[in-house]
Amino acid sequence: MSDKSALELVSLTKRYGDTIAVDAIDQKIPGGTYTCLLGPSGCGKSSTLRMIAGHETASSGDIVLDGHNITDLPPAKRGTAMMFQSYALFPHLSVTENVAFSLKMKGVDKGTRQERARELLELVDMSAYGERLPEQLSGGQQQRVALARALITKPSILLLDEPLSALDPFLRLRMRTELKRLQRELGISFIHVTHSQDEALALADHIIVMNGGLIEQDGKPQEVFDAPRTEFVARFIGGHNIMAGESGKLAVRADRIFLHQEQTPDAALSAVVRAVEYLGTSVNVAVEAPDTGELNVTVGDTAFFANPIEIGQSVFLSWKPEDAHSLAA
Ligand code: ADP
Ligand code: MG
Repeated sequence: MSDKSALELVSLTKRYGDTIAVDAIDQKIPGGTYTCLLGPSGCGKSSTLRMIAGHETASSGDIVLDGHNITDLPPAKRGTAMMFQSYALFPHLSVTENVAFSLKMKGVDKGTRQERARELLELVDMSAYGERLPEQLSGGQQQRVALARALITKPSILLLDEPLSALDPFLRLRMRTELKRLQRELGISFIHVTHSQDEALALADHIIVMNGGLIEQDGKPQEVFDAPRTEFVARFIGGHNIMAGESGKLAVRADRIFLHQEQTPDAALSAVVRAVEYLGTSVNVAVEAPDTGELNVTVGDTAFFANPIEIGQSVFLSWKPEDAHSLAA
């Protein structure tokens, strides 16, 4: 069976003058998945997404969707749709007209396109707002309309560039859940660009971590979080301590380190407590060890308050061997 939304990037490259924004990346993205392209500002996420959408030409390399090379096709012919960060709704068109716009361009008759627009507005829970103008909607509502507008073309892949970054924290969480629900319901692929590791961990079936135009690592969220392959990924994904091991660097999750107040046989390090931060369900204890610099240890709140630790105190650290992951140089 052909996988309608299986995407393959082959040595895909984007240059802007002397800048190499995307550096010959190879990546397969299975169909029907929620994929997050994660990385810091300037690492090439938007350039990659725009090349997939056809809003940016590839300098070299190929984009293959469902076995077809779509590298040089115009955006509307690719089977992809893009939702922009700014939503880019037409201010003078009603919500329904905005959603139906691309069908109008395709010459679909008015009755059909209005019916389709109504279905899509229902999907994003905006049925009651069809007659309004974009300026009469909140940011979150405008975003739902933008989603409906992108989905009306029945894309096999929806591309989203930082779709949640303009929303306040409360709405961001709500829309995050909503995006995941939509992707599940529609069964198509979503490729979502974000610089937020929380967002990627919460949403993605598959995370692709980019750095400097290259892919550093890709995998399931728990693989990337548990076993970062490089120091960059360990630092970017957060929650890890990086230390020098016998042969290269190691990453150990802050919540996988045990903190002892007395020397124990398995303690690998002794350290001094520099800071204690109460985080609600846990307490972050920052310690300094002679050879490793500052390390962070996450202690559950119950364990911490059963046996509180003071700043300046000497402590001993241990971890299980399987929780120390070697990092590639
Ligand atoms: P991200 O989305 O990860 O922040 P971008 O893909 O937007 O990264 O940018 C990657 C690199 O390409 C950056 O160095 C950026 O300055 C550069 N860049 C992006 N768009 C353009 C452009 N239109 N012209 C020149 N340089 C660009
Ligand atoms: Mg960007």
